[in-house]
This record gives sequence, C-alpha cells and structure tokens, in this order.
Amino acid sequence: MTVPYKYYLKENELPEAYLNLRAFMREASIDHDPLLNPGSGQPVELADLEPVFCSELARQELDNVNQYIDIPGAVLDFYRMCRPSPLIRAYYLERVLGTPAKIYYKYEGNNTSGSHKLNSAIAQAYYAKAQGLKGVTTETGAGQWGTALAMAGAFFDLGVEVYMVGASYRQKPYRKAVMETYGASIVASPSDSTQVGRKMLADGVSLDGSLGCAISEAIEVALASGGSKRYVLGSVLNQVLLHQSIIGLEAKAALDDLGEYPDVVIGCAGGGSNLGGIISAYMVDRLQGQATGPAAAGHQPPRFIAVEPASCPSLTRGRYAYDFCDTGCVTPLARMYTLGHDFMPSPNHAGGLRFHGMSPILSKLYHEGYLDEARAVEQTAVFEAAEAFARAEGTLPAPESSHAIKVAIDEALACKESGEAKTILFNLTGNGYFDLAAYAAYNEGGMGDYIPTEADLERSFQTIPQV
Ligand SMILES: *Cc1c(COP(=O)(O)O)cnc(C)c1O
Repeated sequence: MTVPYKYYLKENELPEAYLNLRAFMREASIDHDPLLNPGSGQPVELADLEPVFCSELARQELDNVNQYIDIPGAVLDFYRMCRPSPLIRAYYLERVLGTPAKIYYKYEGNNTSGSHKLNSAIAQAYYAKAQGLKGVTTETGAGQWGTALAMAGAFFDLGVEVYMVGASYRQKPYRKAVMETYGASIVASPSDSTQVGRKMLADGVSLDGSLGCAISEAIEVALASGGSKRYVLGSVLNQVLLHQSIIGLEAKAALDDLGEYPDVVIGCAGGGSNLGGIISAYMVDRLQGQATGPAAAGHQPPRFIAVEPASCPSLTRGRYAYDFCDTGCVTPLARMYTLGHDFMPSPNHAGGLRFHGMSPILSKLYHEGYLDEARAVEQTAVFEAAEAFARAEGTLPAPESSHAIKVAIDEALACKESGEAKTILFNLTGNGYFDLAAYAAYNEGGMGDYIPTEADLERSFQTIPQV
C-alpha cells in the first residue's frame, strides 16, 4: 500500500473557512436565480428572511460575494471532536471488483448522529445561540438531521424542537430516543399542534406525513414564537451547502497530500447538501477552468455525478422551475429542479433522499452542465451495492450513501471493461445503524422498486406555481 488505507489531515491542515460556491458561480456568470417572495414575486431580501432564519444564516443565504467565510472558533472547537473525517482508499472493494480504478471515499458517518448533517447543525446552532435565541425548530425525515441538531443544541445549550415525518417517527423509535437523550423535543408530523398540521389532518392526508409538511409545521412554530425561535433546515439551502463545503475542502487537501487528483466525483443527492459539499473545492477548479494543487499536473477538473433514487427523481425527471420548498407553501420560491411541492415518493421507498426539489445551487450547476450528470438508481440495486460494500469494506453504509456507492461501483466496473485506471472519489455520507428495518426488508426479499409513471409526475407538476 503506497497510499494508507485511512488518511487523516493533520490538525494544522484543517479548513478554517467555508467555501461559498455561489460566489465562484457569480464570478463565472452562472449565479443561480434569486429566491422569490411568493406574495410579491420580488427577489427575497434580508428583511424577508430574518423572521424565519437566524440573521447570520439569512446573510449567508443571500451571499454571492464572499468566496470564503471564516468558521467561528467555537464551531472549530466542536469540529475537533469529529473532524477531520477520514479519507479512505477502498482497497478491499477494489480487490473484490477486480478494477484498475482507484476508489476513495470520505467517510462522514463517524459521529453519534451518524452522518454529515452534523457539519451544518453545529454551525446553525452556534449562530442561533450567538443571536441570543431560546431555541430552533426543524423537521426531520429519516432522523439524521434531527439527531445532528439535537447534538448541536446540547453543545450550545439551545432548545431544539423537531417535527419528525410521521412514517419515520413510527418506524424509527430509537432515533427519537437519541434525540431526547440530547434534550430535543420530538413531535410526529402531521400534528395537531400547528394550524398547517391541523388543516392537513382535516383534509385527511396520510399520517405518514412528508418532509414538506413537517417543514411547514416547524416554520409556523418559529414564526409564532414572538422572535425567540427561528427555523433551521438541514439541506437544500445555500447556507447548508456552505457549511458542508468542509467535506470537499478536507477531501481535496487530503488527496493533495496523497498526490492524487480525481477523475470523477460522486455524491448522492437528496436536497443536495453533501453533494454540494464533496464537490466544493473541485467545482471551483471546474468553474475556473483548471485543475489546481500539487497533484494537478496533466489533469482536467473532474466529472461530477449526482445519484438520486428512481422513486424520487428530481434532477433526472423534474422540471427546472420556481417552486415552494415545502408542501404548505410557506417558504420562498426557489428556482430548482422539482417534482412539484406535493410530490410524495411511494411509502415502499426505504432509501431516503425523498425531497421533491434540489438545491438551487446544484440545480443551476446541472442546468449549465457543470454538474455533468444525474443518474437515477433503483433501490434494490442500491441495497445490493450496500451489501457488497459492507462485506468488502466493513462499514455498514446508510441507504442514502449507498446510492453513491452503487454508481462508484458502476464506474469502477466500467474501468475494468475499458482498462482505464481512473481515480474515483465518492462521499460516504453516513452509517446504516438506524436503517436496519430497510436492511431487514431487503434481506427478506421484501423490497421492491417503485418508479413513478409519467402520469404520477404530471399530477404533481400541476402544483408548480406559474411564475
Ligand atoms: C440527509 C442525508 C443525505 C441526503 O441529504 P443531502 O442534503 O442531499 O446531502 C444523504 N446521506 C445521509 C446519510 C443523510 O443523512
């Protein structure tokens, strides 16, 4: 092994500023279209966002100028508990596949919340506390974001209220136990504690709920708090991609140390935050038209691949349009790839990544061809890849992360065909310890694939507002 199996950056190499991809996009004349106020149809301003978001986070949301934003000292302190995350050379997977490709992955699952979401949760909790707020409200789907925020809230002594998608609330009782251990309070959504929730219950929506519905409830509670609470979100938003840039900054610094430059960078895409994170530093190379760093000689900037579930195919089959980020239509309008804000994936879909839209930053990069490709994969194939990865590399991956594994394996097998020794980098966003019900369904042969029909999509496209 010329390259070690696991590589950690040294403490003095850790990033001290986040990378704001949007500022680099503006410089390349492809800044994304502004968020719109749904009432006036005008671009959203700081004053529109401040009732909902913490002030500093609202500023970050609108910032398309500062290329780097310093990470606050208290956040750096927290990162020292769980970062750097290791960059791992997947020697054992390569051996099983018999590929000449070199596969690297950044492993973000080595913390109690089990995923990359902690990177943004701790920053958001810090800014909320610094502003003197009593608490934050949020939604959680599979539970990773709620858990991450609960940990962050505990660290900074900040109240955390989590609206948890009903189906997950019932399927994942241990998530609730973890969040409560860190002091958060958890409500199953739709609930009767908000107007939006009560309306949905009266309309007879399924108690399984949806992310969009939980978002609407969490925002309503923040707005009704008399200014003492704000709403925070774990994906999609520019501010979240900003915080997740730490993944890509670390990954590039580590690969630079190892004398490697990737040909392909792969991430799974739900709302887009981990993908935006892992690509951050290399996308700057792409936007500026050249590979950089000690290992850049002879390399072009990499190809970027987003991987999404065939059951929730926002990039591959969605419309690029202004839409709400939530079912209750209380968020600003964002121009993004969307399936329509009331799209709900089949309840049989176990692999996460169920959001109807996609980060406006990634949507724009995809629309302009900088994010080269989006691939939709079926969940049985994803679990096959997860199983192969777990057996070869030891780590039990989260189903979400396994979407990226599936395509990394496909790319490595294509190298076996062609004889090319490409360098592949993917993001392993989390571990699968809270997804054992999905693994059980897969092991028992009880997992199916569900792909929405054109008619299904057409129905939810109808709800996209005319702007
Ligand atoms: C939330 C989550 C994702 C998807 O969210 P993105 O914002 O698209 O990154 C992927 N993997 C894991 C483990 C997650 O918890």
